[in-house]
Amino acid sequence: MNTLDTFNCNSLPRRFLLASATALALLGSSAHAADKLPVIASFSILGDLVRVVGGDRVAVTTLVGANEDAHVFEARPADAKTLLASKLVVTNGLGFEPWAGKLIKSAGYKGETVVASKGVKARHMQDEKGHSGHAHEDTDPHAWQNPNNVALYARNIAAGLSKVDASGAAIYQANAEAYAKELQALDVWAKEQIATIPAAKRKVITSHDAFGYFSAQYGVTFLAPQGVNTETEPSAKQVAQLIKQIQREKIRAVFVENMSNPKLIAQLSKDAGANLGASLYADALSASDQPGATYLQMMRHNVTQLVAGMKNN
Ligand SMILES: [Zn+2]
Repeated sequence: MNTLDTFNCNSLPRRFLLASATALALLGSSAHAADKLPVIASFSILGDLVRVVGGDRVAVTTLVGANEDAHVFEARPADAKTLLASKLVVTNGLGFEPWAGKLIKSAGYKGETVVASKGVKARHMQDEKGHSGHAHEDTDPHAWQNPNNVALYARNIAAGLSKVDASGAAIYQANAEAYAKELQALDVWAKEQIATIPAAKRKVITSHDAFGYFSAQYGVTFLAPQGVNTETEPSAKQVAQLIKQIQREKIRAVFVENMSNPKLIAQLSKDAGANLGASLYADALSASDQPGATYLQMMRHNVTQLVAGMKNN
């Protein structure tokens, strides 16, 4: 911003300075936006990862935004337009976005796509809640809840970006590897935090089964009235059984999720005589002024809240 540096701030009216700065910023951003690689991410967490790996070279649009539920998302006509204007589409896969394939097809998008979870060791849910369910409903799509999987996501995104922008390949790879180191540090920290809670107390209630990968990685048991998909409603019998279990095992750590309807879990917590904790970020980042605006922030927030809640068990 050499142009701005040539202004003498003391000799010009403040209003003029601000207007000039804004005009320059607008010019700058539109000129840059045209140069940037347009990329679509299906939901907010992937949007953050594309931003981290792509850095200045990419302009990311997220279809399912902050605090929104990707399970029940319905694409708008404008989304097809955005899709056609992009060079790369990044989805989670594992059945998380059943609407994405239809949207890509109906929009007539022929560009590159990346399934960020490719290569992840998928978890499969036991049918313990009595869902008859098709096979695909049993795959747990929430692989990002283990930071080690997210390192793989970042590398897959780097490979996808390199396909459509070969001259940036070295940068994408370097960004993905630097981020993998941050994820490793997050994993070590999370393990240390959880270790402060005795194993018998590591039990938590959440709205839906979003934390299976977290559970497997950190040894915390999550109980949820809803299955891996927020579309399924639990039966009265399932809720009654869960209330009994909460009371029997004296579980005090009950959490709502930022993108789920809090009604069910609030009622359940009341009926079981437990206290409702803060929101956990399950399937979406928070808005930028909330504590889960990036993946790393979201995970640190979740671990901190979980530990605080489980202390009361
Ligand atoms: Zn979910």
